[in-house]
Amino acid sequence: MKRTILLIEDNEQNMYLATFLLERNGFTVLQSNDGRLGIDRALESNPDLILLDIQLPSMDGYTVARKIREIASLSDTPIVAVTSYAMPGDREKTIEAGCNGYIEKPINPDTFVQEVERFFEERSKDDE
Ligand code: MN
Repeated sequence: MKRTILLIEDNEQNMYLATFLLERNGFTVLQSNDGRLGIDRALESNPDLILLDIQLPSMDGYTVARKIREIASLSDTPIVAVTSYAMPGDREKTIEAGCNGYIEKPINPDTFVQEVERFFEERSKDDE
């Protein structure tokens, strides 16, 4: 079955690159360039995984993650923060907000899809 990833990202170049890499590897990609609209998109599409930028217009990624976690149908959906924040404590902040993990920007085309795949593997381990 084709896996669907919702990409919430406001930077056009990052959106383009991530979409290109994921689609090339067989994923269906849904896009939102706004945090608030991203939550609506997640609700209507129930994706298999959400890739979440942290610096977003209208609502930051931490808030988006918290709000998604409050939605029963999305409470188990893996959320992976994709952000250039690399200060000590930022990783913890994404986890506290409800993210399952963190991929650092700039996106590395050689490793990005592998890093995303890792979160699918972690979830299937939890199901066992
Ligand atoms: Mn951004």
